[in-house]
Amino acid sequence: MSSFLQDGLARNFLAGEWVEGDGGKRIAVEDPGTGRHVADCALAGEESLARALEAARASFERGDLAGMQPSKRGQLMQRIAAEIRGIADEGAELLCRESGKSLSAAHDEFEEAAQYFEYYGGMADKIEGKSIPLGPDYADFTVYEPYGVSAQIVPWNFPVSIAARSLAPAMAAGNSVIIKSPELDPMALAMLGVALERAEVPAGAVSILNGIGSELGARLVESSAVDQIVFTGSVPTGQAILRAAASPVTPALMELGGKSAAVAFEDANLDTLMSSLQSGIFYNAGQVCSAMSRVLVHRSIYDEAVERAAALANGLSVGHGLENPGLTPVISARQLDGIETLTATARQSGARAASGGARLEREGYFMAPTILADVDPSARVAQEEIFGPVTCFTPFDTEAEAIAMANGTEFGLVAGVFTRDLARAHRVANRLRAGQVFVNEWFAGGISTPFGGVGKSGFGREKGLEALYNYVRTKNIAISLKG
Ligand code: NAD
Repeated sequence: MSSFLQDGLARNFLAGEWVEGDGGKRIAVEDPGTGRHVADCALAGEESLARALEAARASFERGDLAGMQPSKRGQLMQRIAAEIRGIADEGAELLCRESGKSLSAAHDEFEEAAQYFEYYGGMADKIEGKSIPLGPDYADFTVYEPYGVSAQIVPWNFPVSIAARSLAPAMAAGNSVIIKSPELDPMALAMLGVALERAEVPAGAVSILNGIGSELGARLVESSAVDQIVFTGSVPTGQAILRAAASPVTPALMELGGKSAAVAFEDANLDTLMSSLQSGIFYNAGQVCSAMSRVLVHRSIYDEAVERAAALANGLSVGHGLENPGLTPVISARQLDGIETLTATARQSGARAASGGARLEREGYFMAPTILADVDPSARVAQEEIFGPVTCFTPFDTEAEAIAMANGTEFGLVAGVFTRDLARAHRVANRLRAGQVFVNEWFAGGISTPFGGVGKSGFGREKGLEALYNYVRTKNIAISLKG
């Protein structure tokens, strides 16, 4: 391994070099499965940020990526994909330890990251403009040009795959990129720099900096040297970033939180609903923006659905991520406190804990897998993102009532419909206020299906062909042929 991790200290990948950052500042990274220290991470400060911005600009102006023959840029991205697979075993173990997620989920992140580079690498030479007919006296055409320097802020729940989700299309389009890693689990993402280095990405085209959001992150997004902001994270941070972006008028892409509902009709296959529930709310301990955090069930099958959900929750194995259990810890003591408090509030306001309801008394930060039943759809717990292994069951009687409840939050990230009636599936999917609707399988789709929010879940789309066009802007060139 190159000098990314030395003497237990993870570094910053700055303009092709591994550096400690400024003033010797560090952040301690802990293992959520044990609460014990894993390693320290060197923090980048203002000086490192200035260097990264300068290097990114210089790389862009030189045309390191944008001026490269597009098919060669595609080949570079395929090499990055191969190098990501080469570090996946080591990276997955690091990610498992610093984030608490299961080893297999951590491995999946590296695999998904590699796939983003393959997918968008294949598009690097297919970003084609249009020719617009203006009559015999003109030639008119559009070109898609990269923005320049893309600043990308990444959350802690899927640091490696989310970073790749934005980095890959940005690079395919020829942008330089500066990534700010999440402070709770920065190391596996920093390690992506090893793959970039081995694939021989031009120095300066990509930097990965570790820093505190309110410090380094805030300085990065307010900088007028940035041409685009890509943010994935919570609504309050997204709002702060949009305010910062207003002054330099920097375009921003916002991938924010959710409070997504599954709607299960009386003809739903309950086996299908339960397997979707298991991944929908217990994968990554429910710390998923598109988690199935509400389950609306037709009254005729409601009691059975709650009972089966509670049995599923109670039957999950619990353990350290390295053991690949059914339930892993949440990221931090603070996160656990927040989840437990919101769950307790729900119970005080009349919800019934069919399973779980409080933390598990054991080493690490574990919340019991929790099924809250009879939740009032207007209660805080049904309106706010919990970001933990806790979901809310509510019965409904009519299709119209179910749609109104599903659409009744400030969010609109994803939604789900469980029914055997195809006509109803279409009808309801069309009326759900969400960027992505799953029918009979939560998380159906993948890197090629567009993903993003409505309302406070944000705007713009990631994934799929469509996302690439977030990383370019259109220029029209009109040529008079009149002489
Ligand atoms: P967060 O908003 O606390 O932090 C996200 C990132 O923003 C971190 O890197 C943080 O350091 C940085 N940051 C914090 N303050 C900043 C500031 N003032 N300026 C610039 N950067 C700043 O979110 P989190 O707790 O890391 O992640 C969980 C949230 O992310 C949840 O709300 C979840 O729904 C959302 N999320 C959304 C998606 C999506 O694609 N829609 C995916 C994953 C997570």
